[in-house]
Amino acid sequence: MSGRPAALTGEPLFADSVPVTRPTIEIGDELFGTFRTILESGMITNSEQVRAFEEEAAAYLGVGDVVAVSSCTAGLMLVLRCLSVSGEAIMPSFTFMATGHAAVWNGLVPVLADCDPGGYDLDPAAAEGVTGPGTGVIIATHIFGVPCDADALDATAARHGVPIVYDAAHGFGSTYPDGRAVGCRGQAEVFSLSPTKPLTAGEGGLIGTDDPELARELRIARVYGNAGDYDSLYAGLSARMGELNAVMGRANLAELRERLDRRKRLVARYEGALGELPGIDFQRIPPGAESTYKDFTIRVDPDAFGMARDRLKDLLALENIMTRCYFNPPLHRQGAFVTAVRERGPLDNTERLAARLLTLPLYTSMEFETVDRICEAIGRIHRHRDEVHARLGLERETVDGLHH
Ligand SMILES: *Cc1c(COP(=O)(O)O)cnc(C)c1O
Repeated sequence: MSGRPAALTGEPLFADSVPVTRPTIEIGDELFGTFRTILESGMITNSEQVRAFEEEAAAYLGVGDVVAVSSCTAGLMLVLRCLSVSGEAIMPSFTFMATGHAAVWNGLVPVLADCDPGGYDLDPAAAEGVTGPGTGVIIATHIFGVPCDADALDATAARHGVPIVYDAAHGFGSTYPDGRAVGCRGQAEVFSLSPTKPLTAGEGGLIGTDDPELARELRIARVYGNAGDYDSLYAGLSARMGELNAVMGRANLAELRERLDRRKRLVARYEGALGELPGIDFQRIPPGAESTYKDFTIRVDPDAFGMARDRLKDLLALENIMTRCYFNPPLHRQGAFVTAVRERGPLDNTERLAARLLTLPLYTSMEFETVDRICEAIGRIHRHRDEVHARLGLERETVDGLHH
């Protein structure tokens, strides 16, 4: 190891590319044995395994009902449909596109509000500022697994007499400051089980709710709105969970606590090493709360770090370290939303996060040594930043590509 960045030596720190994430899946004979039994039984969708998965998930979360669906996006679409909301949907601009799509598919108009600069979640004051007579629902996302300020957001929703739904795609296993699991707040919380999420079933979604009537409707809505007599009650979806997915979800749920603990220790290792560099800080977690660390993200202050996020990303790629810039562009600058949304109020924090956040590799099977070497790569890029900029013929950057 030369101690100098690959941009100067041509020698990457990693011979093989380090992925930004890898799905954590239990692969064992038992799993394949169960797959065989299910395939032989002919009951391959929405049957005993799905029921068992729903019950185990509800017990884990301490929530009245869990309804399994084919994806988080479908789950959000169905929840909004079953709540019969109309008008405007207040939501953060700093979220995944599916939060907005679920609203648009229900004929709702997304109204985008700014996020908290420390925890990155929907800012309750900003949400309050845009909630009014036209509001039909509030949708908030637990970004990267950090729970929203549900006390403040629920209070806003109650004050205006509108339902609130949480996009909990990142949050299966996160807890609120009072120790309760994410999944038990609002009218419903919707989890994703797609491969990049800390709990995966291959694909799928889970809806947590303490409203038994809503749960009953969702179970009908996920099968076309057909309660069994083929006289459909609502325009439902085909959004069942397959039995094989439920088997994978159950196997992974059984290991979840240990895996989340490992992710937490990997993040602590990252923060210990990177916290010493100027201009890098981390997502804030409310005291007492726990995050799944669906992603580990650093915020790069270009002035203090001496380099902008995009340059750091490119230089890490030369070291064979893959990274991502999550929710850039944010909703209000995406093609699908430019004409579909109403913007009210500033989105300055959203723009700053979109320009400055960098998601580093994190997966449960990752070695601590890999974390150490990624930190070393960032350290050596920082130490040699002037030389790198000179070599690349670039001005030293103290600003980033902020949109105004
Ligand atoms: C992944 C994700 C979704 C969509 O999940 P699917 O299960 O793929 O539909 C929705 N919201 C957020 C915030 C996500 O990250």
